[in-house]
Amino acid sequence: MHGYRYIEGTATLQVDLQRCVACGLCAEVCPHRIFALSAEGLEVKDYDLCMECGACARNCPVQAITVSPGVGCAAALLAPLVNRLLGRKVLSGCC
Ligand code: SF4
Ligand code: SF4
Repeated sequence: MHGYRYIEGTATLQVDLQRCVACGLCAEVCPHRIFALSAEGLEVKDYDLCMECGACARNCPVQAITVSPGVGCAAALLAPLVNRLLGRKVLSGCC
């Protein structure tokens, strides 16, 4: 997935920097490394790298991140693979 980019300007990821306490958890869990934490605080390096997996939002202790999984679309990428492995006939995974 290195270098993967979604359709420009469509990611649903939003970060409330006023609420952020700079704990760094989102940067740690993001599989695409789109966050950067420095002395100035948190920075989103590139919204178009977000695959909307939701890991950052789930791990943020102060609910500073919102994202709508499925638009980006991690579900569409992963569900067919999982369904195939489980022998299911439904191959679409996008909500
Ligand atoms: S939703 Fe997933 S890919 Fe997007 S910023 Fe959060 S952890 Fe990274
Ligand atoms: S997990 Fe939340 S509080 Fe922590 S750095 Fe990320 S946005 Fe800020």
